[in-house]
Amino acid sequence: MSEFLGPLSGFGVTFSTMFAKPTTEFYPEEKVPTAPGYHGRHQLNRYADGLEKCIGCELCAWACPADAIYVEGADNTDEERYSPGERYGRVYQINYLRCIGCGLCIEACPTRALTMTDDYEMVDDNRADLIYGKDRLLAPLADGMVAPPHPMAEGKTDEDYYRGNVIGEVRQ
Ligand code: SF4
Ligand code: SF4
Repeated sequence: MSEFLGPLSGFGVTFSTMFAKPTTEFYPEEKVPTAPGYHGRHQLNRYADGLEKCIGCELCAWACPADAIYVEGADNTDEERYSPGERYGRVYQINYLRCIGCGLCIEACPTRALTMTDDYEMVDDNRADLIYGKDRLLAPLADGMVAPPHPMAEGKTDEDYYRGNVIGEVRQ
């Protein structure tokens, strides 16, 4: 290209952009839906009766390349049960100052306890509040669910839970 046309072609990009329709987003007044499969805030899921799916195995924490997850498991007892089976996640934290949203943790979870939501509004003015605990990660109780601790559904085993054979029956 000649020395004369080179700069002109550069200005061509500028001129074409000047007349293009601008893309203006009016966030937060108007929120645009996220793309399908968006990796937003994590969620710790429950079974249909409210028991927690997390078994405190720490596989998510080991899979995380950013060392953003901290888990402390503990034993369930017959008097105090939070999940089917032997163990539950007593402490569960995700540090959103470290998380890069890669999703490797949810791939590693053996019980589908951990998934990711469309929620991207995770901002704060201090570091401590960006470490989310179970209080902000556990799924809310839906209809038919009872907050743990409580026993497993009558006549059901932990395998029935894992296989999806429990539908909100709670033995009190
Ligand atoms: S999404 Fe990635 S970086 Fe974030 S907690 Fe999961 S594994 Fe770690
Ligand atoms: S979220 Fe899943 S992988 Fe992580 S500790 Fe709980 S059960 Fe294990």
